[in-house]
Amino acid sequence: MGRLLKGGLALGGTVVALGALKRMLNPQPRYAPWEKPGYEKFENKVLVVGGGFGGFTAAKEITERIKDREDVGVLVVAKDNFFTFWPMVAGIVSSDIETRNVAQPLRRALITAGASFRRAKLNGIDHENKKINVDGGLEFPYDQLIISLGGQPNFFGIPGVEEHALHMRGIEDAERIRNRVIERFEEVSLMRGEIPESKLTFVVIGGGATGVEVASELHLLVHEALAPDYPNIDPHRVRIYLIEGLDNILPELDPVLKRAARTRLVNQRIEVKTNTLAEEISANCVRLKGGEEIASENVIWTAGNRPNAAISELDLPIDERNGIKVDSYLRVQDRPGIWAIGDCAAIPDIRQESENGRGVPPTAQAAVQEGKVVAKNVLATIDGRQEDLEEFEYRPMGQLVELGSDFAVNEVMGVRFSGRLAAIFWRLTYLTRLNSPQSKAQQAADWVLGTFLRPAVTQVRGTSEE
Ligand SMILES: Cc1cc2nc3c(=O)[nH]c(=O)nc-3n(C[C@H](O)[C@H](O)[C@H](O)COP(=O)(O)OP(=O)(O)OC[C@H]3O[C@@H](n4cnc5c(N)ncnc54)[C@H](O)[C@@H]3O)c2cc1C
Repeated sequence: MGRLLKGGLALGGTVVALGALKRMLNPQPRYAPWEKPGYEKFENKVLVVGGGFGGFTAAKEITERIKDREDVGVLVVAKDNFFTFWPMVAGIVSSDIETRNVAQPLRRALITAGASFRRAKLNGIDHENKKINVDGGLEFPYDQLIISLGGQPNFFGIPGVEEHALHMRGIEDAERIRNRVIERFEEVSLMRGEIPESKLTFVVIGGGATGVEVASELHLLVHEALAPDYPNIDPHRVRIYLIEGLDNILPELDPVLKRAARTRLVNQRIEVKTNTLAEEISANCVRLKGGEEIASENVIWTAGNRPNAAISELDLPIDERNGIKVDSYLRVQDRPGIWAIGDCAAIPDIRQESENGRGVPPTAQAAVQEGKVVAKNVLATIDGRQEDLEEFEYRPMGQLVELGSDFAVNEVMGVRFSGRLAAIFWRLTYLTRLNSPQSKAQQAADWVLGTFLRPAVTQVRGTSEE
């Protein structure tokens, strides 16, 4: 009898604990569907355009701060209904990271926090009537408008880049690159006789963090995932180039880490060419300054970013190169009630302003910090607490760059380290920063499985034109 009672108690305890865990992982939305007033009914309407690092953080932070008040409504409008977790995008190329874990659902997180969401593309701002216009002719009103539209690739007018190169500015781009490699392997498997060198030569242009990560992911894809499935192709016939215009790769990193990264790439037979500028790209060739040519049908452009071109349609003060002009409180100049953050904003770096006038760099960590400050400032403005406005001061935490699944170069609060341990640190850091609990669990499980099983890589045609 005693045993039966103990067993019953243990079972009951387990059921209660599982229930508590489920509630913790699935928090109740702030409003039940029948309780939630429409966004337009709120006295103070805060409209956030863009649901990426900047916009999503701003919206979440505002909802956190207005938990006890009913006078502020938040609406996020973005062209995608997912949040792209950019630091993990390169991992999609080798299939080390699953697409669904990088595309974080936006709706669930925002609705649970008490905000509203509409998937729509911003077309313009009606400044007089304080409304935005989106595709399909709809309008949304605002009292405070936060703009965080992100960036896009910059081709610097180099002939052929836009037409012939793949880019790295979205989840679809990473899938396209993976499919391109598989496409070439399939094509070459069907070829008889001489195989043109251009088929199996991959040229990554841009030696910043994205370019280095993409070159490493290509190597991982070819050597770990594809090589055993294509026994008729010698993986060492595949050539990967990394082209950089400056005198070294990873310009923001410490020289010791640059060296470690470069040694790693060279050991993997990735051909790193620095002080090298691409002058023209055609369907099967990259022409470099000085006349050298690399025969390749597979060029990936990662060499430049610029603010989203959509900002030029918004009748706001902009600096073409750096974005919407804001002051140190993140307010758009001469446009009361409008704020801009993230890659689309030219934000003064108050730490360096007197020294060289450079702005805050376009990084995810900066966008997150800006999102938190803009949330505070928007609420202070709504409440008429001008004295509580906070100047934005960027506090860089460091940089993490992964080169394949077992090597990274990291600089965190001045501490520099590289190698396998750094790769584990990279994974743990970004895993904890994923917003969706499903993605966290799935990605952690994939990485554990990946230590025993090679990723199964296939080319699902239809998800991209490759
Ligand atoms: C491949 C890659 C890897 C990166 N890795 C790192 C890294 O490891 N660490 C780091 O610190 N930074 C990294 N970055 C930079 C970082 O991603 C950006 O600085 C950051 O995302 C900026 O945040 P944001 O909110 O401005 O833009 P995003 O996060 O890009 O969000 C832009 C939002 O605007 C929406 N949008 C765009 N146009 C419209 C429109 N017309 N109408 C409505 N909505 C629109 C989009 O749907 C999206 O929701 C990386 C960038 C890339 C491209």
